[in-house]
Amino acid sequence: MGRRDELLRFWQHIITAYCADQTTLPPFLGLSRNEFSDLITQLHKIGFSLNGHPCSSQILDQYTAKQHLFGDLIQLREDEIAQLSQLLTESINKDSFYANLAVRVMSCACMGSSHLWSDLGLPERPVLSEMIRYYFPALHGKNVHNMRWKRFFYKQLCESGGDYVCRAPSCEECSSYSECYTVTD
Ligand code: SF4
Repeated sequence: MGRRDELLRFWQHIITAYCADQTTLPPFLGLSRNEFSDLITQLHKIGFSLNGHPCSSQILDQYTAKQHLFGDLIQLREDEIAQLSQLLTESINKDSFYANLAVRVMSCACMGSSHLWSDLGLPERPVLSEMIRYYFPALHGKNVHNMRWKRFFYKQLCESGGDYVCRAPSCEECSSYSECYTVTD
């Protein structure tokens, strides 16, 4: 997949949803202002128009102001975001253009309370699965029981010594089983 395909397949959805305030992502998707602006520039280059979108340049300044507020909230969970980022980075696809951005944005989206695809602003779960398969292929391959992605990430952290979701010794004995494995969307 080339840069253009990555932008079209994943990032245009995320940016569009973000600009419509339909994600739970922090300002600039959790990226630096420069990273965010570069993403917008690259989308423009392939013909994706943000004309009329609130992501046009003057609004970026307002997001900068808001960033201080969200920055405080994100900072409270920065350790958790760092652990998720490390998990994703361990299986990163080094041949992709935007995997590093995906690490940060996906880790921040895990702070939302809905399904990960929804918190990210993707249209449906299969697009998220494709995004994970492309950017983090080894991690994708480990989800052999088709767990919900956010739960799957946290289960990985639990297995490596974290204490996030797994209170029971095994999934079969756990009262959260349906939350982790019942994939209906
Ligand atoms: S079912 Fe329970 S033990 Fe299994 S991953 Fe979910 S929370 Fe953890």
